[in-house]
Amino acid sequence: MINNIELERASLLTYLECPECGTIHNAGVVNTVCTNCASTLFAQYNLSTGISKDILTGRPATMWRYKEFLPVIDEKYIITLGEGFTPIIPVNNLKKFTGDNEVFWKDESGNPTGSFKARGISAAVSKAKELGIQTIAIPTAGNAGGALAAYAAAAGVKAIVYMPKQTPKVFKDECHLYGAELVEIDGSISDCGKLVNEHATINNWFQVSTLKEPYRLEGKKTMGYEIAEQFNWQLPDVIFYPTGGGTGLIGIWKAFDELEQLGWIGSKRPRMVAVQSESCDGIVKAFHAGQTVSEFTDGGFTIANGLRVPKPYADKVILKVLRQSNGNAITISDEEMSVAVKEIAKNEGLLMAPEGAALWQAYKKLKASNWIQPGEKVLLLNTGSGYKYLENIM
Ligand SMILES: *Cc1c(COP(=O)(O)O)cnc(C)c1O
Ligand SMILES: [Zn+2]
Repeated sequence: MINNIELERASLLTYLECPECGTIHNAGVVNTVCTNCASTLFAQYNLSTGISKDILTGRPATMWRYKEFLPVIDEKYIITLGEGFTPIIPVNNLKKFTGDNEVFWKDESGNPTGSFKARGISAAVSKAKELGIQTIAIPTAGNAGGALAAYAAAAGVKAIVYMPKQTPKVFKDECHLYGAELVEIDGSISDCGKLVNEHATINNWFQVSTLKEPYRLEGKKTMGYEIAEQFNWQLPDVIFYPTGGGTGLIGIWKAFDELEQLGWIGSKRPRMVAVQSESCDGIVKAFHAGQTVSEFTDGGFTIANGLRVPKPYADKVILKVLRQSNGNAITISDEEMSVAVKEIAKNEGLLMAPEGAALWQAYKKLKASNWIQPGEKVLLLNTGSGYKYLENIM
């Protein structure tokens, strides 16, 4: 039963806005990208209502503690498996590498289905359920497919997952176990995306491709809310993010804007660092070349499936965030990731996804080049569990 207080605290979603051309879209109906210019749509909320941080007291330790700033209007449609509010863990036994920086991991590995994809998918599936959608299709490099399969099972809707054949078996097995339909494609996530798009149009499936659907971004932005809350509303100086489609990077940045509008944080922002793999380094290249869009990269195999995105759909927005934040972008090789996974596991007791471990090497490099200054507080996002990658790492 929903009481009055709960009703007062329902979502403050107002409409969807295109950050490129400004077109407003009705959030009460099904949306994909901007109907005018095909950009990703950003959900907007009524944040001028003088809401106090105190509303968070006693809320559940999941991302839905920020439900006012999430898109589900009627709480009965929230599909939650306990995603979010993940721990922040300081680097302990590897301090010889961190000098006088305070370096922390935000460890997303404990999320349902073992990665932070659970956040975006929980938001997208919940909103799809509220809008009456029955079948959801997704192109995935691995983790998003497993997450969709699980949340679709919980929601009682059908999931159809398109995944590169080369993805490790565990990512395929979990889709089957959660009852999703799995389609294996000889190619990268971009090839999967093209086929999903064709088949979805014919069959009338709803697609939740990265940043071509507005609400996965909303789920992932909750990392930004948590970073602020868990650091007692004082943001770190630098945040490292393993960038595939860039949803989390864009989402965290969006969260900080919303929190400033709410008056919960000030105007200080962390410098954002995008970390990519060698086969998919389009953002790194475009960033250093001063370009506003990225080129297609070869998209070949990497042990970090989550980074196997030949060209992010929202590359313009990613590059804008990196520049606005005075951030940086850096490439890490598969060998370096593999070394980092082992180093962190042996010394810290954390078995990370290669995507997360890549940040450790990126941090060390940017510290060695003095881009990271003494005394700075640094946050590294371990986006997934290493347990799903044993086939890749060993
Ligand atoms: C998907 C994924 C990423 C990349 O996330 P984006 O938001 O698409 O940039 C990084 N790490 C892991 C483990 C992933 O599954
Ligand atoms: Zn537009």
